[in-house]
Amino acid sequence: MSDQAAFVFKGIPARVVFGSGTLVQAGDELDRLNRKKALVLSTPEQADAAEALAAQLGPRAAGVFAGARMHTPLAVTEAAIERFGAAGADCIVALGGGSTIGLGKAIATRTGADQIAIPTTYAGSEMTDILGETAEGQKVTRRDPSILPETVIYDVDLTLSLPVPLSICSALNAIAHAAEALYAPDRNPVVSLLAADAVRAFHRALPVLSHDPANAGARSDALYGAWLCGIALGQTSMGLHHKLCHILGGSFDLPHAETHSILLPHTVGYNAPAVPEMLRPLAEVFDAQPGKGLWQFARDIGAPLKLADLGMAEDDLDRAADLAVANPYANPRPIERDAIRKMLQNAWEGAPPA
Ligand code: NAD
Repeated sequence: MSDQAAFVFKGIPARVVFGSGTLVQAGDELDRLNRKKALVLSTPEQADAAEALAAQLGPRAAGVFAGARMHTPLAVTEAAIERFGAAGADCIVALGGGSTIGLGKAIATRTGADQIAIPTTYAGSEMTDILGETAEGQKVTRRDPSILPETVIYDVDLTLSLPVPLSICSALNAIAHAAEALYAPDRNPVVSLLAADAVRAFHRALPVLSHDPANAGARSDALYGAWLCGIALGQTSMGLHHKLCHILGGSFDLPHAETHSILLPHTVGYNAPAVPEMLRPLAEVFDAQPGKGLWQFARDIGAPLKLADLGMAEDDLDRAADLAVANPYANPRPIERDAIRKMLQNAWEGAPPA
């Protein structure tokens, strides 16, 4: 039952097509949106899959732009928009993880194009009206209804190729959305239910995927969990965890999913004593002390545990702690500089949460 007597529920965004082999429905989904020419987006690494999708779409495809990059650099968006116009495209089909979906959002919010997102990781961007973009080394995040994709096709088969390390980090990135949604000031009972079910789905899936990445049932559980976590991210304001990941990604150039994965047990451990009831769904699944339990779970499935292994210098921990306390943001436990610095030290060393 909810701890909240009053709340706002924004509704579930976007039409969702979920299952195995659903990619074949992409053309029908374009017809449903009444769109005729889709520019297909991907990263360079997923260019072959994007070309195959364009071939599948036939005359409904306006070509492929396979230049998506992490953190949505403005120069890439400008090149893609030029291509969008030159190809006579009237909509976007983004095939990939958060980087590709971010590029689709950046084009859509500038051109008004409709988007079909086809996620191949668990990052959850497809369910949010949030866009983070980088220009001149600065990452700026904003929310706007024009950013949200119209349709999302979740095809479990597309996640079979996601390498085990990225599967694990991307899943912990998703669980972080659920964890922070549970204690967000704008949480609501529906999102809390979704977050709790997502955590259970990942808890079932990840031990299997860590040694059997082609297990269809576990892949389905994980993608289902990712969908729910994406909704949770889109509906609520994020706290300490997302703030710290934003700082470490933006100011220290650490990779997105890995950073989330390493920090999550520590940020949950930091906040859990302040909101034990709200974090009960995590405690039920991981441990009465959910930070410690998450850390053990992450270790057992082979997740990275040390910020040092991502190339972060120990000397930078002081500055990261300073940045974490520089601007106020909602968090269930007060942001105490010394405690944050200690937490970062543990995460840097790969020690369990305090
Ligand atoms: P990513 O999209 O950068 O993908 C990482 C790499 O994995 C890429 O090379 C990609 O091509 C490859 N890949 C993806 N799926 C694959 C698959 N199934 N098989 C093989 N290779 C695959 O990684 P990500 O973690 O999904 O996204 C990170 C980006 O998304 C960051 O820029 C982050 O800020 C953003 N993001 C935004 C939101 C939002 O709501 N705005 C939410 C989450 C993440």
